[in-house]
Amino acid sequence: AKQSGQGKHRFFKRSMNEEANKRLAMLGSLRTALQNNEITVHYQPKVITAHKTIMGMEALVRWRRNGGLASPADFIPLAEDTGLIVPIGRFVLEESCRQTQHWRTASGKDVKVAVNVSPRQFREDDMPLLVREVLDKTGLPPGALELEITESVLMQNPEQSRITLQDLRAMGVTTSLDDFGAGYSSLSYLRRFPIDVLKIDKSFVDDVPDERQANMLVRAIVEMAHGLNIQVVAEGVETKDQLDFLHKIETDYIQGYYFSKPLPPEEFEALLHEGPLV
Ligand code: C2E
Ligand code: CA
Ligand code: CA
Ligand code: CA
Repeated sequence: AKQSGQGKHRFFKRSMNEEANKRLAMLGSLRTALQNNEITVHYQPKVITAHKTIMGMEALVRWRRNGGLASPADFIPLAEDTGLIVPIGRFVLEESCRQTQHWRTASGKDVKVAVNVSPRQFREDDMPLLVREVLDKTGLPPGALELEITESVLMQNPEQSRITLQDLRAMGVTTSLDDFGAGYSSLSYLRRFPIDVLKIDKSFVDDVPDERQANMLVRAIVEMAHGLNIQVVAEGVETKDQLDFLHKIETDYIQGYYFSKPLPPEEFEALLHEGPLV
């Protein structure tokens, strides 16, 4: 037993080293990725539930790496730990505002872009100043920009966050609370912070309309949000049954593979020119 225990330990140690080496190698290439134009942005439509037209899109970062596309799940945590998320986040903000303003003027459609802001970026960057600079530079009107933050941002630094969110609201930029329901004690945040939109976490959306408890929860979230003058997006919608349920309970917007995966800009542009996404 001792023998195999030691073997396991050695194996564990070796795989930990391999893991650390992999992280180090990835960190090196992530550092140069921005300069090498390997960081790009994809766009996923947000659809108005009632008539299936595109009201805007979420900007989602991608890394063109070794001929493929690395998923943010693989490099965002590393970027967050090392602080690289700050320059990456600035790039995504500026690139997506520039692209959105281009689409608005080219298509005449009043679309809005939502950009994810990580806890570290929210904490370390002067967000109101950065946003002001990017809006000035790209010409995007403030009302066409939404920032998506998570509860952890609010938990880590409530007082500073409240001030930052108020400054952004005064500027005309909206804020949405992402992954709503996946974390803790979300309800008090809705009263304490100026939040415009809730995004119901995919884990709830996955279970409607087949699980009664999920149905009740989602319905309650929508009702409560509307009572507080907050709009609701359901994320991760994949089926017609989910869509029908979410429509019935008056969820404002739908995002998910049912309509479209996140797309590279050329493909998103083609989608934008089509009519309603039936
Ligand atoms: P998120 O902000 O919750 O984004 C939604 C994720 O769900 C995206 O994954 C999207 O592609 C995926 N998704 C959308 N609809 C569906 C669906 O119907 N089914 C399924 N299975 N998935 C769906 P993605 O693009 O891999 O991003 C993962 C996470 O990485 C994001 O979760 C966000 O937390 C983070 N992230 C992405 N882009 C950025 C960024 O520019 N900055 C920061 N700080 N984080 C980002
Ligand atoms: Ca998001
Ligand atoms: Ca989300
Ligand atoms: Ca999520």
